[in-house]
Amino acid sequence: MSRGQEKHQKRVNELMMLGKDLARRAHSKCELCASTGVSLAAYEVSPVPAEPDIDKTVFICDVCSEQIDNPKLMNAHHWHCLSASVWSSTPVVQVVAVRMLERLIDCEGWAEDLYDQLYLEPEIQLWVSDT
Ligand SMILES: [Zn+2]
Repeated sequence: MSRGQEKHQKRVNELMMLGKDLARRAHSKCELCASTGVSLAAYEVSPVPAEPDIDKTVFICDVCSEQIDNPKLMNAHHWHCLSASVWSSTPVVQVVAVRMLERLIDCEGWAEDLYDQLYLEPEIQLWVSDT
């Protein structure tokens, strides 16, 4: 194994150790779209800290993580879930939800309406822009 791979593997293991606490926080539902009965994985939110941190990580399904990573695959229909998750009391979940909403506001009327209603704490607003 190369050093890069070793480092990556270490990170994966450390994230897996957060899995139990994440599952508890998420009540075993995707923290973005609330899907149940699907496989959920830790997803680190940028800016990624030096050490894995549960407060900088969301626990989400494959559908959500794939579309976060690939804006071209965005299916606006899936993201109606944001109308709940942008109000999450878990800051990191709110940050990801708002970032995804920002991708949709130009083409989706409901997203624009939701964005207009949104009130964000100043530190959340700063984090949202800190990609
Ligand atoms: Zn999801």
